[in-house]
Amino acid sequence: MSDPRFNGLVAVVTGGQSGIGAACADRLRELGAEVAVFDRDAAAGDLSFAVDVTDEQAVADAVASVIAQTGRIDILVNSAGIGAAGTIAENDNAEWRRVLEINVIGTANVIRACLPHLIASPSASVVNVASAVSLTGFPNRVLYTASKGAVLSMTRAMAADHLRDGIRFNAVCPGTTETPWIGRLLDSADDPSAARAALEARQPHGRLIAADEVAEAVSYLAGPRSGSTNGVALSVDAGIESIYVAD
Ligand code: NAD
Repeated sequence: MSDPRFNGLVAVVTGGQSGIGAACADRLRELGAEVAVFDRDAAAGDLSFAVDVTDEQAVADAVASVIAQTGRIDILVNSAGIGAAGTIAENDNAEWRRVLEINVIGTANVIRACLPHLIASPSASVVNVASAVSLTGFPNRVLYTASKGAVLSMTRAMAADHLRDGIRFNAVCPGTTETPWIGRLLDSADDPSAARAALEARQPHGRLIAADEVAEAVSYLAGPRSGSTNGVALSVDAGIESIYVAD
């Protein structure tokens, strides 16, 4: 269902070609926003840009093209990201640099490029896709956790820096969400159906989270309805962060 409060707003969604980002792009369009997708796998089109978020010039060019086509950017959803598994002993520095480059510096890069346009917007909102690991220690995820902890901490710092600019910065922290990313993870397991059962069992409600459920939270934070919500981490994790699940 559309919401008149989104009419005329323009959103940029990174990672918008797949999974959580694609669900966010669909939901924001459904609500009435015009949506530009920045994704390294995007098929180039009117508001679809094949952009690596770590490439400063490519991001600047894509932002300039969105402005040329629409005249504004009001909403930015940063969903582009990659995963990493392992303990501190298992990822080398090259892997640390690769993951931090995309998940942290890539996010900063896109926000910086959009900033002047967000400052000019009467309804500016940035939503960063962090993770349940930003709030709770999970085994075997130290590098990914460092990257998503940084995403959450920088969200709060930017919320403070840009309060007077009228830009809100919030994060969503999803638990394991049914996306092509998780599909790839399961496909690479020795026993994909046992691996899926283990992932489902890790969720307090016994199932994976739907990308649409994350998109609903993102669209709430992105739009004017959440105008008094700033600097929060909204968990979409079935309770991982907040409830103790007794056997
Ligand atoms: P996904 O792999 O389905 O989608 C990620 C998208 O990001 C892809 O389209 C990919 O092309 C794009 N991307 C990756 N690196 C990029 C780069 N350098 N430049 C531009 N685009 C790039 O994954 P997803 O599960 O939808 O994950 C989206 C976000 O949600 C990620 O930031 C991830 O960390 C986060 N997240 C996912 C889960 C989960 O369980 N799926 C849980 C918590 C958080």
